[in-house]
Amino acid sequence: MEAKIKPLKNTLDIEYQRCSRCVLDTTVSDIWFDDAGVCKYCHIHDEMDRLHPLENMEKDLKRIVNRIKRDGRDKTYDCIVGVSGGRDSIHTLYMARQLGLRPLAVYFDNGWNTDIAVSNIRKATDLLRVDLRRVKADREEVIDLQRAFLKASVPDADIPTVYAIHSVLYETAAKEGVRYILNGHSFRTEGTSPISWTYMDSRYIKSVHNKFGSGVVRSFKFMTLWYLLYCVFIKRIREVRLLEYVDYNKKKVDEDLALDLGWVYYGGYHHKNLYTKFFQSFLLPNKFNIDKRKTELSALVRSGQLTREDAIDQLEAGAYEYDRSVVMYAVSKLGWKLEEWETIFYRAPRSHKDFRTYLPLIRLLRLPIWIACKLRILPYILYLKYAS
Ligand SMILES: [Zn+2]
Repeated sequence: MEAKIKPLKNTLDIEYQRCSRCVLDTTVSDIWFDDAGVCKYCHIHDEMDRLHPLENMEKDLKRIVNRIKRDGRDKTYDCIVGVSGGRDSIHTLYMARQLGLRPLAVYFDNGWNTDIAVSNIRKATDLLRVDLRRVKADREEVIDLQRAFLKASVPDADIPTVYAIHSVLYETAAKEGVRYILNGHSFRTEGTSPISWTYMDSRYIKSVHNKFGSGVVRSFKFMTLWYLLYCVFIKRIREVRLLEYVDYNKKKVDEDLALDLGWVYYGGYHHKNLYTKFFQSFLLPNKFNIDKRKTELSALVRSGQLTREDAIDQLEAGAYEYDRSVVMYAVSKLGWKLEEWETIFYRAPRSHKDFRTYLPLIRLLRLPIWIACKLRILPYILYLKYAS
């Protein structure tokens, strides 16, 4: 077995370079470019595009929807949709209903969600007549985790929530006997987050939390790798990225959601949650030189929704804007005085490589992971991102 995607040129020793096709650049430490200057993430996009060709979308979508209906016919719900109040998750829920599915919506409340996001969830679930299950995390536990990751000085400071959401969705699916989790991600519009910008697994969270926090979480669970394997191989739970089966145009979707479900835009890249807003607009660009606009703009360029020139113009028009009042709010909610926060902010950046993670094991198991991805038991993006 050989990975199709291979680094042709390592970027460690070279000067600044921007991909000749998208707008990702050498601020991504794990990036590489081929001889034409096209980056690793464009190659991942092409591989995903080959697996999910636009011309087969309608047929593939029909097949997967029929399978979800068939496997869930004796259950109260046939699929689970995690909702955050943002465009992608609400549109996934809307699509599920339009396709005749019977979803259970699950909302993980980490205490930082904006009123707009919560109202978007309520309106959508009411209008679509979907049951909503809210999992409320203990505020102190969430803050303890967030403080631990900020003290650890790693760019993955938002992963406790992201991983908790995945854990809650798998746990709910397993308990309800539901085999499908509909995921609101699309490589065509959101792109693939570089591993050096966002890495997550339960061992990593535990390692950071034990070292820099209390290490105690009682109000929700982080699934272990073994629980995930149990869900995948014993309960046969599958993640389905519904948005990858449709021509997903953000502008058009925003208009439709506003009109049909009273959905309100929350203004910015994943800013439906105030911690994410603080983290993405302030912490990542200012401490780690990570500008997440590049991932999403690159995805839109690759899928033809934006020209590369326009994307570069947007990036060069100014740094990622942040709202000082949101930073002050976040620091205060995290329980820090300004001087304490400054000491933490100026600590030297570190990475997931400085902590215990499952990554060495994942790399060791790349052959079985590749087989599981080829058999569509696991999403192929997992192999491309973590094991290739
Ligand atoms: Zn690229």
